[in-house]
Amino acid sequence: MPNGGSDCCGNCRFNRAVQELGEPTGNHDDRFWASSFCTLRDVKITKPFWTYCDNYFSPWPPEPGKAEEPIGWIYASGLYEGYVRIPWHDKTEPCVSISCVCRICGRQTDQGITVTDEGTEIGFCTNRHYVEWWKTKHDDPEISSDDFDPPEECYRDRS
Ligand code: SF4
Ligand SMILES: [Zn+2]
Repeated sequence: MPNGGSDCCGNCRFNRAVQELGEPTGNHDDRFWASSFCTLRDVKITKPFWTYCDNYFSPWPPEPGKAEEPIGWIYASGLYEGYVRIPWHDKTEPCVSISCVCRICGRQTDQGITVTDEGTEIGFCTNRHYVEWWKTKHDDPEISSDDFDPPEECYRDRS
C-alpha cells in the first residue's frame, strides 16, 4: 500500500493498534485499521497510514517524570499536488477527494475537501482554500495557505 511517509500513525507507539497488534509488517488488516486510535490525543485515527503528527518523533523512553504532551497539530494527507499535509481542525479530520462547493471561491468540484465545523459540513476546492479557511480558526504562523497550489493551477487541465 502506498503511503505519504513512514512517520505516520500506522507506525506510532501511541496508536492503540500498534500497542495491541504490533507494528504492521506490510499487511495492514482490517483489525489494525479498526483499532487505530491515538492514545495521546484521545482521537480515532481513521487513516493510520495517511495521518501524522510531531509526537511520532518524541524521544523514547520519555524523560523520567515527564508526561508526553501533544506537539502541534495532527495532519492529514491533502489533495495530491505532490504529497502535502494539511492540518486537522483540532480533533476533526478533513476528508479529501470529496464532492463539494468551495466555501472560499464557490467552485463546485468532485475532488475537494470537507470538514465539519460547529456541526456544519463545509467544503473547499483545494488544499490552499482549506488552509485559508483554517487560518481564520487557528493561529499558527508556521502554516500558510501560500505553501499550496492555487485553484487556477490545480484545475488548469480539468474541464
Ligand atoms: S496522532 Fe501523532 S501521537 Fe497520535 S498516533 Fe498519530 S502520530 Fe502518534
Ligand atoms: Zn476554492
